[in-house]
Amino acid sequence: MENRKEILVTGGAGFIGSHTVVELIQNGFDPVIIDDFRNSEEVILEGIERIVKRKIKVYRIDLTDYNKVREVFKVHQFCAVIHFAAYKAVGESVDRPIKYYRNNLNTLLNVAELAIEFNVFEFIFSSSCTLYEVPLDCAAVSEKTPLCEPTSPYASTKKMGERILNDIAKTNPRLKILFLRYFNPIGAHFSGFIGELPQGRPNNLLPYITQTAMGKLQELTVFGNDYDTADGTCIRDYIHVSDIAEAHVAGVQWLMEQLPNTKEVINLGTGQGKSVSEIISLFESITGEKLNWKFGPRRAGDKEQIFANAQKAKKLLRWTSRRSIEEAISSAWKWEMKKGSPSVFICYEKAQQKGTCF
Ligand code: UDP
Repeated sequence: MENRKEILVTGGAGFIGSHTVVELIQNGFDPVIIDDFRNSEEVILEGIERIVKRKIKVYRIDLTDYNKVREVFKVHQFCAVIHFAAYKAVGESVDRPIKYYRNNLNTLLNVAELAIEFNVFEFIFSSSCTLYEVPLDCAAVSEKTPLCEPTSPYASTKKMGERILNDIAKTNPRLKILFLRYFNPIGAHFSGFIGELPQGRPNNLLPYITQTAMGKLQELTVFGNDYDTADGTCIRDYIHVSDIAEAHVAGVQWLMEQLPNTKEVINLGTGQGKSVSEIISLFESITGEKLNWKFGPRRAGDKEQIFANAQKAKKLLRWTSRRSIEEAISSAWKWEMKKGSPSVFICYEKAQQKGTCF
C-alpha cells in the first residue's frame, strides 16, 4: 500500500482547487476534498478522476457545519490544509455582504480551529492581489507593497482571513502558514477535462470572452477605455491556472521543510501585465474566432493596472509560471467548447493510447 500524505483541500472541486488536486496527486500526495458543490458540478470530479486515473476522496459537506467537518478530521491524518473554499464574486459581495462574511469567515474559522485541534500545522490560505494598493508609479506589486482599504466585502474577507490566521498563529506557534496572493488565474487543464465553471453570467474576463465567442452570451462589454494605459483599457497579470496549481504543490513542499512559527506572503503571478484589448486580440488570433464586443463605462472598484513582482515565489518556492498566455487562452477555449461533453473523455483517451496530441 503506497504511503501518500493526506492533504485537506477545501473547495477542491472549484476552479483552482480542482487543478491543484490534480497536481497534488501527480506529485505523490493524497488530497481529500471537502466541497458541497455549490459552485461546481460532478463533471469536474469526473474530469479529475479521468486525468489522474483514480478515485478521489470527496466529502460533500458545507464547511460552515463544524460538526460534520470535525468528523472528516477524525478519520484522516492530514499533514496540511489548503483552504480554497470561499465565495469570490466581487459584485455579488457588495450586494450580499452578510452572505460573504458569514461563509468566508465561518468556513475559515472552522477549518483553522479543527486544524489546530488535530495537530495539522501546515496551512495554505487563498488570498488575492486585490488587497494591494497600486503604487503611484504603477510598478510591479511585491509582497512589501502596502495594502489598501478593501473595496468590497469579498476583499475584506480575504484581508480578515489573513488577519485571523496571523492572530491564531500568535498563540499557536507550531503553525506554518502560507498566504498565496493570486493575480488573475485563467485557462484550464490541457486535457480539456476540467476548467472554470462560473455559475450564471460570468464576472471574470476570460469566461465572459469564451462564452460570448460560443454564442452563449451576446456581447462582451470592455469596462472603460479611458484609463491611463497604452490602449486605455485596464491591465492585469493573467496566469495559467495549472501554474497556480503547481505553486500550491511547491508551497506544501516548502512548508514541510520549514520550522514551526513560519508565516509568509507570496504573490502568484507571471510578472507580465496585459490589457483587456490585448487579451481580446490574442483570443481572436489564437482561436480564429471573431469576438462581439463593445466599449462601455468603467466598472466600479476596478484598479487601473496591477501585475506581480513574482521574485519571492521564485526564490522561496523555486516556482515560476511556465505556461504562456497563448497556452492559457487556448486551453480556456478548448474547455469552453468541450465542457463536460462525454466525447472529450473519449477523444483524450484515444489520443493517449495512440500517443498523439489531444
Ligand atoms: N472586464 C471587462 N469586461 C468584463 C469582465 C471584465 O472589461 O465583462 C475587465 C475588468 O474591468 C478588468 C479585467 O477585465 O479590467 C479583469 O477583470 P476580472 O473580473 O476578470 O478580474 P479582476 O477585476 O478581479 O482583476
